[in-house]
Amino acid sequence: MKFAAEHDVVILGAGPAGTSAAIRLAQMGLDAGIVERRRFPRGHVGICISDETVALIDYLGLGREFNNAQFWRRNLSAVRWGDSETRLVPQQGYHVDRAVLDGLLLCRSRAAGVRVYQPVQVQKVERLQDSSWGVAIASDDRRQFLKARFIVDAAGRRPAIPGARIKDGPPLLSIHANWALRGMVEFDGLIEAGEDAWLWYARTARDRAVVSAFCDPRRVAASERGGVQAKYAGLLRQFRALSLEQMGEQCSDPQACDATSQHAEDPVGNSYIRLGDSCLSVDPLSSQGVHLALQSGLQGAIIVNTMLRKPENAEPARQFFRMRITERVGRYTGRTKQEYARVSAMCPNAFWHERAGGAPVVEAAGPYPPLEPAPRGPADQVAVSPHATLDAAPVIDGIFVQVRQVVRHPNIDGGVAYVEGVDLVRLLSALPPSFAYCDIPWIWRNHIPLATGSRIASWLWDKSILVQATG
Ligand SMILES: Cc1cc2nc3c(=O)[nH]c(=O)nc-3n(C[C@H](O)[C@H](O)[C@H](O)COP(=O)(O)OP(=O)(O)OC[C@H]3O[C@@H](n4cnc5c(N)ncnc54)[C@H](O)[C@@H]3O)c2cc1C
Repeated sequence: MKFAAEHDVVILGAGPAGTSAAIRLAQMGLDAGIVERRRFPRGHVGICISDETVALIDYLGLGREFNNAQFWRRNLSAVRWGDSETRLVPQQGYHVDRAVLDGLLLCRSRAAGVRVYQPVQVQKVERLQDSSWGVAIASDDRRQFLKARFIVDAAGRRPAIPGARIKDGPPLLSIHANWALRGMVEFDGLIEAGEDAWLWYARTARDRAVVSAFCDPRRVAASERGGVQAKYAGLLRQFRALSLEQMGEQCSDPQACDATSQHAEDPVGNSYIRLGDSCLSVDPLSSQGVHLALQSGLQGAIIVNTMLRKPENAEPARQFFRMRITERVGRYTGRTKQEYARVSAMCPNAFWHERAGGAPVVEAAGPYPPLEPAPRGPADQVAVSPHATLDAAPVIDGIFVQVRQVVRHPNIDGGVAYVEGVDLVRLLSALPPSFAYCDIPWIWRNHIPLATGSRIASWLWDKSILVQATG
């Protein structure tokens, strides 16, 4: 077979997961190609992002371009979730145009040296005899073959490499459309629970908004006749926080898409990895899909770099990735069930009950255990908590995964090797059995500056890894 190009890595899909991985792989010196089936600019669902997500975009070198794009700044959201009151909640973030954001990320990939194949159809992805991959792609005028040592599947909710998917919740369907606002709306975003559906309103410009209704596809198929428009209109009737006068006029055909939470059974293999939605699609209720896609792109690039350049660390790298995915599945399904449970407690409909999955209603509370102010006086003796343990585990160390000593504690997910880039085990090992809290930066002064020591001591106290000394 004659290959048009041979790459270290071929990435399938140029959404946030694929492009963030591509940018980082190229920056690490690997030869990457990205294959996208659609012509850009193309719109996409998934427009609400938080300021933490913007920090990741900035890390990828797009801070200035993001600011110049002038996406709609979200400051205030309205929430009507299981009660008859609409609460206004300050919530910082942006409502972005994904056609623009995804275009910026793809441009950044090109500038980093990534070869872009677009628009092309992926016809075949197969293992070759020498255990590399062959990818057959076709555009209007030609068919080409690419060769790759490693494949990244970042093709979104419909993965490009077949594999079992595990459902993390009942089926969920989104029907959304664009609206031209007429009345005055005081908030930028709205989330509202209805009888058997929930609504999401996101303003995208002074007089424009996207309105999505999330429902059970089984219920919609059974109860509503007519096309998607009739189903959409039927669903919108049950919501109260926003009047139809305020919403103005629907100015696009409604689009329906699957929004069910699910994850891949095999997120990573010997020479492939799944990133973004192709690995884990969380319930849109969390508004975290883009964040998770970027995060998985950044982490995934390090996993791939390790597997290609330090094959002796390949198994710890895969283990690290699987552990992170398992943690995220647990965290997001748990939180989502609790959110559905809050409505289920007030509304008996099966839509809420089934999604709550028997989760208890947890009132929004502060961190547990409650934060105590750090002790200040020289007489206040503290110690490392007996619940903090040391263990060897794979961690990210620069652009590789390595096995290192980590600190484990019930209040932290997984193990922590570094805080602010400093080896935490080394710092804890330097502490005597008990000591005054205010002396900590001085005990560590040969390792780190006093200000860094003071911040890390405060983080350890907040996590209860440092506690009051007994006796
Ligand atoms: C209704 C709904 C609302 C959502 N709202 C939010 C929100 O407000 N905030 C948020 O953060 N997240 C939201 N999400 C989730 C968010 O959209 C996704 O998590 C995010 O886009 C995932 O990024 P990705 O790069 O993994 O995949 P995608 O963004 O889906 O990108 C995949 C890319 O791969 C391409 N592709 C597909 N198949 C192939 C193939 N075979 N070969 C080559 N290319 C291919 C596609 O054209 C696409 O460009 C929402 C999801 C849904 C369903």
